[in-house]
Amino acid sequence: MKTLKLAKSYRIDDGKHFRIKDFDPAETGHWHSVEHAQEYLQKYVARMADLQAKLYAQDCWSVLLIFQAMDAAGKDGTIKHVMSGVNPEGCQVISFKVPSDTELEHDFLWRTTRHLPERGQIGIFNRSYYEEVLVVRVHPEALKGEKLPPSLVTKNIWEERFEDIRSFERHMARNGTVIRKFFLHLSKKEQKRRFLARLDEPEKNWKFSEADIHERDYWDDYQKAYEDMIRHTASKHAPWYVVPADNKWFTHLVVSAAIVETLEELNLTYPKVDAAKLKEIAAARRILLKK
Ligand code: AMP
Ligand code: MG
Repeated sequence: MKTLKLAKSYRIDDGKHFRIKDFDPAETGHWHSVEHAQEYLQKYVARMADLQAKLYAQDCWSVLLIFQAMDAAGKDGTIKHVMSGVNPEGCQVISFKVPSDTELEHDFLWRTTRHLPERGQIGIFNRSYYEEVLVVRVHPEALKGEKLPPSLVTKNIWEERFEDIRSFERHMARNGTVIRKFFLHLSKKEQKRRFLARLDEPEKNWKFSEADIHERDYWDDYQKAYEDMIRHTASKHAPWYVVPADNKWFTHLVVSAAIVETLEELNLTYPKVDAAKLKEIAAARRILLKK
């Protein structure tokens, strides 16, 4: 399939010079409306289904897709859209909330490690270990609940976590897990509009959480934490995509393009059938036709 290389301009392989303000949350590339993008939205979802079937049959690579964003940026809707075509048997979505007591008994990579995708599978993390350098960094008092030996909690803790995440992701990549990370980049203005919609529209009321409104007070701290996170953890084998999130349809387009481009690069094929197997198939056909 001819892909547009659409996602390339939002991809960060090396975060050294990354600045969040260079990226516009309201951008929509060459498209002006959801109708205009419809053809590609559908094509990408269909292509993803086809590639996933091969990924599953080959049972060799795993794909890990990580989603991080401010509240109301559209993580759930994006996951729903991009996965709408794929076989549920080959795909798993895990949402990570405030850590449980059991999870706090372990190191910060433990709970996500338990849910890594098997070979042949696509695993989606709705939030991830990156919360440990985002919400925990913005509210460092949360570190106290992590039961770390006090002598290990120093001013270097965020640098150390970045280093550990980089090593972990390199290890996973070297063992056949393809990691792609998506930061859905929403503007503060659009977040306000979406929060108001949650208050105004009865069918959206369930999504409203008072805590989300308070987290808005920390907007700038979060933006800084995201910027620093991307600077330290973007790499060729586990790049970040900074996806414009003010227009949901464009978010869906960029994320599905990124996934298709990633799967295309793996040159997936159905497992080759050897001569002995071909003989078995021919024999089975003869037997079936006789009955
Ligand atoms: P939601 O995804 O909207 O249901 O909210 C889940 C909440 O869990 C968010 O406020 C996250 O910031 C929070 N959360 C997720 N992971 C962690 C973590 N490792 N430490 C503290 N809070 C977390
Ligand atoms: Mg929420």
